[in-house]
Amino acid sequence: MSVAKFFDDMSYGPAPEADTEARGWIKRHNGTFGHFINGEFRASSGNKTFVTHEPATGGDLAKLAIGTKDDVDAAVVSARKAQAQWAKLSGHQRARHLYALARMIQRHGRLLAVVEAIDNGKPIRETRDIDVPLAARHFYHHAGWAQLQESEFSDHVPVGVVGQIIPWNFPLLMLAWKVAPALALGNTVILKPAEFTSLTALLFAELAAAAGLPPGVLNVVTGEGETGALIVEHDGIDKIAFTGSTDVGRIIREKTAGSGKSLTLELGGKSPFIVFDDADLDGAVEGVVDAIWFNQGQVCCAGSRILVQEGVAEKFHARLRRRMQTLRVGQPLDKAIDMGAIVAPVQLKRIEKLVKQGVDEGATLYQSEIELPKGGSFFRPTLLANVQPTSIVATEEIFGPVAVSMTFRTPEEAVQLANHTRYGLAASVWSETIGLALHVAARLQAGVVWVNATNLFDAAAGFGGKKESGFGREGGREGAYEYLKPKAWANRKARLDYAVPQLRTTAGDFAAPLIDRTAKLFIGGKQARPDGNYNRPIISPKGKLVGEVGEGNRKDIRNAVAAAQGAASWGSATAHNRAQILYYIAENLSGRADEFIARLAAQTGRTPGSARAEFDASVSRLFTYGAWADKYEGVIHQPPLRGVALAMPEPQGVVGVICPPEAPLLGFISLVAPLIAVGNRAVVVPSEPYPLSATDFYSVLETSDVPAGVVNIVTGSAMELGKALASHNDVDAVWAFGSQALSEMVEKASVGNLKRVFTDYGKAYDWMDPAQGEGPLYLRRATDIKNVWIPYGE
Ligand code: NDP
Repeated sequence: MSVAKFFDDMSYGPAPEADTEARGWIKRHNGTFGHFINGEFRASSGNKTFVTHEPATGGDLAKLAIGTKDDVDAAVVSARKAQAQWAKLSGHQRARHLYALARMIQRHGRLLAVVEAIDNGKPIRETRDIDVPLAARHFYHHAGWAQLQESEFSDHVPVGVVGQIIPWNFPLLMLAWKVAPALALGNTVILKPAEFTSLTALLFAELAAAAGLPPGVLNVVTGEGETGALIVEHDGIDKIAFTGSTDVGRIIREKTAGSGKSLTLELGGKSPFIVFDDADLDGAVEGVVDAIWFNQGQVCCAGSRILVQEGVAEKFHARLRRRMQTLRVGQPLDKAIDMGAIVAPVQLKRIEKLVKQGVDEGATLYQSEIELPKGGSFFRPTLLANVQPTSIVATEEIFGPVAVSMTFRTPEEAVQLANHTRYGLAASVWSETIGLALHVAARLQAGVVWVNATNLFDAAAGFGGKKESGFGREGGREGAYEYLKPKAWANRKARLDYAVPQLRTTAGDFAAPLIDRTAKLFIGGKQARPDGNYNRPIISPKGKLVGEVGEGNRKDIRNAVAAAQGAASWGSATAHNRAQILYYIAENLSGRADEFIARLAAQTGRTPGSARAEFDASVSRLFTYGAWADKYEGVIHQPPLRGVALAMPEPQGVVGVICPPEAPLLGFISLVAPLIAVGNRAVVVPSEPYPLSATDFYSVLETSDVPAGVVNIVTGSAMELGKALASHNDVDAVWAFGSQALSEMVEKASVGNLKRVFTDYGKAYDWMDPAQGEGPLYLRRATDIKNVWIPYGE
């Protein structure tokens, strides 16, 4: 072949990366790996193994152990033993270990990059330039949190032993996202990599031990889904951190319900990629390349749903199709390819099937007419245009190099289409008008929004989803909190049972009966009769009738949720406005001290002094959240690029609140005030035995300018109403305080839309103690951080 030909067509020649070292490492282990437990490799107790394959050739790569119950037990024992000592190290000592791990990744960067490319099928260009450097960056960043732990997180302690389950799309990077924060903050780990891609986790563990990480601090147990399930259900594990499919995320939520295990779920997505007619179209076309053909589209936050404004749709699609012809699909170790192999034949079949379904449903198929390598699992860069929003390819995560595209006319329609999904992981907005881009970014239901960019990541900027994309964040300060628990809540005792007192009539009691004062429900700013038209008596500990309240049911909850949905503008009210209203509530409440104190004493049988203390604390707590309303703010990250990432706390939306039985007024205010301070709307079930302080509160709300629907109150059974709230798909989060059974039920029932749950597992709080009952501990749980990335420059 003549050199002139290459000058003529400018085509690429092969540029293979050497794989001698990587294959040499596998050979040194005789192509067989055990689990990495307590600082050493050991075979599976059941001697069961499976073979891991090379996606680009289909050939065998290595034999791996399948983790059994005994293996998981051994890993838990080793992690538990190490945890006490690991947590005792000073932050500085742990920081040095994390630093050593970061340096180790850099020193062995090439080996890790090659093993990853062989094992996963992704291009070496990506493993070398993205996965490995970002993994190192995570360890550097978290070495910093370890160093600062004593000063920045002095009111928290480590969670303990953590089970981490990761997928196959970014094996080393997902390990780093999970292991770095866990270890930095004093936890120890049992990690299960995905069965398709376990090699870099085993290599990392081996290198970490050589870098001096103490035995037991990081354990790697390989295997299939069943091994993951053993970790999830293990009693000796304090927290599960999972990344993977929404279906498995749901199973894990159900399995851990009521166990008290802390849980973070990073699940699937169907992220919108919105192109306005004033966008830099060439920039946006390059954006699509990074959004959906990066990592063969096997990216949870892939911009897989392109929404283009109608006027530029034709031009944009034409340029995109032209660009698709220049993409190169090839061997992962070729340094000049854009896309490598799909992880496994089963995933390839899934992609093929979904694309066929999309075409059957009317989509126009466009694929790059490029040559694919022979053998292995390869798929062409694919665009499905003219897709209906209800088509399976527009709603399901394809997890392959397939973009679907639709058009819109107005920004309003773009937001509606973008949010028309059960997922809420990421979004990308393209417009040269910064005002429009930020206006849209604020309204997108997503944990991350990239303006004129896509798929940017940094250890300092938390990553995670909304809705069925899961909960919790990885990275940044918010990610660090996921591996800590508050000291103030450590010594809570199991709550006593609240038996409903019986009505006692005393012979010869001729006192005049109560004038009928049945409290109604409070829905949409109005007092409403309960749907079932039943009431329940409220009886004092001495057996006296102190009042009656409505017996709320599912329909009342439905009405209350609809009213709360209708009050969405509360979330965009100014923080100053919300602060003023909280102070106003406090003012109006304080004017009615005698009445509220008498009611507290009458319901609970407590002394007037104790009732007054609860009342005063309630007024003070309202002031606390009036104070926080305009001070609980975000931060501006400065990631390593020319630009900023705005980390903004956003309200979760509609929150169901089941108040604790104790502290009828203070418990109610301690939960409702932080929620509304940051813009949530609440549907509240007051203390079941003592609901009258909450029903008396209606008139305080009515006179304090609280917009209708922001606080709704439904009295009745905590269990029954809690179930209706936890299983309602328009409720975004549930805060449930009461019995252990209530916690378990609420966590189980929350799986439908994977709502966030904040619950106490039957442990009673001392609401009078501000360290336990107020402040950022609650505000953090009332919000989710959204990161809006804004690169700048010409
Ligand atoms: P899974 O959710 O099944 O796997 C993720 C991890 O969980 C793996 O380590 C897996 O083990 C493990 N696992 C599987 N079942 C259980 C269980 N019951 N309990 C505990 N752990 C379990 O994803 P897949 O790898 O099967 O991919 C399926 C689809 O999920 C993809 O097509 C894609 O749509 C989506 N996905 C989303 C990801 C994301 O980041 N959002 C990442 C990966 C996949 P093992 O690998 O051994 O089965």
